[in-house]
Amino acid sequence: AYVASAHKASEGWALQIDRPARALKAKKHDDRKSELRSLRKALADVPRKNVALQAHAVIIATGGNPTGIADTFRLPLTSLRPILCPVSATVFGDRAALKTLDGLRVRARLTLARNHNELWHEDGEVLFRTFGISGVAVFNLSRRIQHGDTILLDVFPDLSKDELLDTLNRRVELLGGFSPRDPRWLDGMLAPQLSRVVCTAFEQCHPGSNDVIHLVSILKHFKLLVKGTAEERSAQVTRGGVSVESISTPSLRARSVVDAPLYVCGEALDIDADCGGFNLAWAWISGIRAASSL
Ligand SMILES: Cc1cc2nc3c(=O)[nH]c(=O)nc-3n(C[C@H](O)[C@H](O)[C@H](O)COP(=O)(O)OP(=O)(O)OC[C@H]3O[C@@H](n4cnc5c(N)ncnc54)[C@H](O)[C@@H]3O)c2cc1C
Repeated sequence: AYVASAHKASEGWALQIDRPARALKAKKHDDRKSELRSLRKALADVPRKNVALQAHAVIIATGGNPTGIADTFRLPLTSLRPILCPVSATVFGDRAALKTLDGLRVRARLTLARNHNELWHEDGEVLFRTFGISGVAVFNLSRRIQHGDTILLDVFPDLSKDELLDTLNRRVELLGGFSPRDPRWLDGMLAPQLSRVVCTAFEQCHPGSNDVIHLVSILKHFKLLVKGTAEERSAQVTRGGVSVESISTPSLRARSVVDAPLYVCGEALDIDADCGGFNLAWAWISGIRAASSL
């Protein structure tokens, strides 16, 4: 049921609710996902009717897109943007790199940099995709990126630069000198696709060199240029929503309507957090808070 209109009444709210005119008929399925899909379709197709409802109080808990309901209750909205999603990016100086790396997962430390200033670090698994990078650590960066930022991947996060240099020098003693024309020299240290891309970067950044000190700098600062967020349709959270300034704390009651109780909770408010259960926890805690303020 949707709130079609809302007016202050002598006690609380007079609402017009747009609701299904009859019980939903959906096909029976064995799995919950298909059942839910059928119910959604049935809900979209069912004839609707308007009913009047008196409410002592209203709690808005509509999730990431509260645009319609905020208009109905005349609440100020901040702009909406999907976050906690993959990042669209290119590998610095190598347009073909992401095609080579597509599907590869690498444990790394990710550093977000803007105008040569380091803004944020995340540790975790990076999944390379043809359009950029994905994975939980990347989702967290997606909350902070801007077009034009740089993400530096350290693909040996457990080794300091000196330790990595020692490891590479020992390899030189065992295998002979490194050459960027022989990516297999890195077999056992890196996935073959990544070795190929690292060697291409090496040749571009240090033409004519075979010095493993330059390999250290590429492996510790593998550079991606950020375009923006990607696959927003599957983003976990929407940034933006009912402005926090329009809500009193700790009650979560809207300041604008003094005589009719109106509360906002969960993702409908302009509050978002990193992955890790914080967004669900906020939805539950703020829902309990709003309900216990009634
Ligand atoms: C794929 C995915 C994975 C996620 N994983 C995590 C995770 O691991 N950890 C975590 O913390 N968070 C996760 N999140 C985010 C988390 O699920 C949300 O932040 C949280 O569910 C928000 O809760 P909510 O009650 O505010 O809104 P929602 O859970 O979105 O519920 C809002 C409900 O209101 C209904 N509705 C919308 N508009 C109206 C209206 N006008 N009238 C009536 N009903 C309306 C919607 O249909 C929906 O049923 C994930 C999200 C997604 C999409």
